[in-house]
Amino acid sequence: MNIDKLSHRLEAVAGYIPPNSILADIGSDHAYLPCYAMNKGIIQRAVAGEVSEGPLRSALKQVQSAGLKEYIDVRKGDGLEVIKPGEVECITIAGMGGTLISSILERGSSKLQGVKRLILQPNIGAANIRNWLVENSWELVTEEILEEDQKIYEILVAERGEPMKPYQVEKEAGFLMGPFLMKEKSDVFLKKWAMELEHMKRILLQLDQAGETESLKGKKEELQSHILVVEGVLQK
Ligand code: SAM
Repeated sequence: MNIDKLSHRLEAVAGYIPPNSILADIGSDHAYLPCYAMNKGIIQRAVAGEVSEGPLRSALKQVQSAGLKEYIDVRKGDGLEVIKPGEVECITIAGMGGTLISSILERGSSKLQGVKRLILQPNIGAANIRNWLVENSWELVTEEILEEDQKIYEILVAERGEPMKPYQVEKEAGFLMGPFLMKEKSDVFLKKWAMELEHMKRILLQLDQAGETESLKGKKEELQSHILVVEGVLQK
């Protein structure tokens, strides 16, 4: 089967792959993303990494039926262990939580040599990735937020550079909400943060009712600070 059409989410991810790249798609599942990128002539070749047996079989089947075995190498392994240092120029990790994506990057940091661009699409917890990028000298170069099937997704694109450059103006808000996304303030962004604000306020109320312990106090202060930051950005 040829993959000419993808979910809106994965198509947006593919849109950030530099032309002619050698790609690693980690947690590739059906390998839809590398197959699409090959069919569209975006990439030279790819490694599709999968840790689980079922998705690995789906990826192998997809690559075989698309006639792309010569160009897409499906490999079993945890995170970046499927690639050699210097083997790929661009890495996509999509459809997982931000904590898992950050831990894949952290555990595989020795494999990032030669990688010029990371395209990361967390389903939740994007702030976690923004922190990892800064701590590891990657500069966030652009972001996108989109809605598909009533779910809101963020895409973070990073290259080696000046990690603090995007956060020079409003640091806390930038890490939480995305320095590019908060400048653009799209309808999806406003919808996401209106919902998050409600959610944070609900939790704060529950914590207020739960009483006063040292660990709750820290959590409450963090929530109060996030609420102020988000309200500040939404009101501007
Ligand atoms: N990337 C595809 C997408 O965005 O549609 C698939 C997303 S799917 C929800 C997440 C995939 O990541 C699963 O197939 C899972 O087996 C795989 N995965 C989770 N942890 C992984 C890891 N540490 N290394 C490689 N693959 C992993």
